[in-house]
Amino acid sequence: MLIGGGWKASSDGATFNSINPFDAQPWAQVPAATTADIDEAVGAARRAFDKGPWAQSTPLQRATLLRSFGDLIRDNADELARIQVLENGKLIREVHGQTLALANHCYFFAGVAESPTGETLASSVPNMQVFTVREPIGVVAAITPWNSPLALLMWKLCPALAAGNTVVIKPSEITPVSTLVLARIAQQAGFPDGVINVVTGAGPAGAALAAHPGVDKIAFTGSTAVGKKIAVTAAERLARVSLELGGKSPNIVFPDADLPNAINGVISGIFAATGQTCMAGSRVLVHADIYDQFTKDLVERTAQIKLGNPLDPATEMGTVACQSQFDKVLHYIEVAKEDGATLATGGSRPSDPELSRGLFVQPTVFTHVTNEMRIAQEEVFGPVAVVIKFTDEDDAVRIANDTSFGLAAGVWTRDVARALRMVKRLRAGSVWVNNYRKTNHVAPFGGFKESGLGRENGFHAIEEYTEVKTVWIDTGNTIT
Ligand code: NAD
Repeated sequence: MLIGGGWKASSDGATFNSINPFDAQPWAQVPAATTADIDEAVGAARRAFDKGPWAQSTPLQRATLLRSFGDLIRDNADELARIQVLENGKLIREVHGQTLALANHCYFFAGVAESPTGETLASSVPNMQVFTVREPIGVVAAITPWNSPLALLMWKLCPALAAGNTVVIKPSEITPVSTLVLARIAQQAGFPDGVINVVTGAGPAGAALAAHPGVDKIAFTGSTAVGKKIAVTAAERLARVSLELGGKSPNIVFPDADLPNAINGVISGIFAATGQTCMAGSRVLVHADIYDQFTKDLVERTAQIKLGNPLDPATEMGTVACQSQFDKVLHYIEVAKEDGATLATGGSRPSDPELSRGLFVQPTVFTHVTNEMRIAQEEVFGPVAVVIKFTDEDDAVRIANDTSFGLAAGVWTRDVARALRMVKRLRAGSVWVNNYRKTNHVAPFGGFKESGLGRENGFHAIEEYTEVKTVWIDTGNTIT
């Protein structure tokens, strides 16, 4: 683990394994942090925040470090991508480009570090100059999930560092290695000791970090269930908190859409990353006029998706990331069948003996689904699409919004006015029209309702890592 600039084992020597989901073999051994380790990491982050080179750093110095970090991420993208494949079964052909793009987060937030952040206010109080400054919050705990371990970390790390915070990262126990290697690269970029710390361990380590009184802000990405616990922990001491949580996003296809395009978007919307993305288009809403043909095409195309070694660029869908997730996906497939949904394709482990050791689940489509079924309401986080029929715009909006989540939505139509009406009525943090699952360092991302609190990426992100201070200066001989 990286604590205060030093690489350390756990204080009691305990370790755990990272398992490659493609061959079910352990491939790396990682320290299991104790509460003493977490305490030490928070202490190191606190010291680096309070005094020393980071506490006195100028925006230009922080920007320069972020730019070096970005350059080194590009130089090491092959290794960072390969590690993510080994630890969670992501496809190399998806993750390599995503890893290179992480450098853009560094470059963008390097610019943000030097952008104006305060305001000069037109106060009505006579003889007063009033302005605001944005200051870093302090020690940030970044607790991340396994599905996109580096991207979801960089969404936190870059704005936190740009603003001058220090960070203690607790990556998922499923994917700790990529974060440790990224921290080594950050060290090479020259961030001072204690600015970036990493402790590794399972849920209880995350809980201990979130509850630590030395943590001023918790930035969490993960399940809604754990996010609610973090919100309660944060509330106890009014720690700042941002939460990026789950989703059950609708991908809505109207009859006037470019249907070949729509079917591609629906397929990649749910089956990219083996369906293990918060923004997966897991509810496919199809207009009644095209339901039969669209569903038939969707099922045929889904059945042709090529499963295989995630390191093979020809593979179109990889494994589920870990055993517990694999069990959860198969459980939900049974739930859907019991609730009366029709299994149109997939639904089990593939029979191919070459895939027998890996945590593969066939890409699965359920038809004749109604929105109240559990398979339409609960996040599976796997390669399972449900197809729901709708009759008109009102019906589509009603079904789309009838969920506790509000992360994202897709709309497929050639009618601009309809697209804009839908954008306005959908209760989701991102709406994609005639595309799906796009993100970018400049574009805010986050959820309505139980999909989260706050926004990552873009200029909005800096607000999540700063406090506003208002300054009043008496400019005259005001008698008070
Ligand atoms: P998870 O909630 O199980 O774990 C996330 C992180 O929290 C891990 O590091 C874990 O060790 C830690 N953790 C577990 N219990 C904790 C506790 N009680 N206190 C503090 N930390 C704890 O989530 P996961 O299974 O790793 O990831 C999948 C989930 O993440 C899905 O629900 C998905 O939708 C969500 N997700 C959301 C976004 C988004 O941007 N909205 C992005 C990716 C994933």
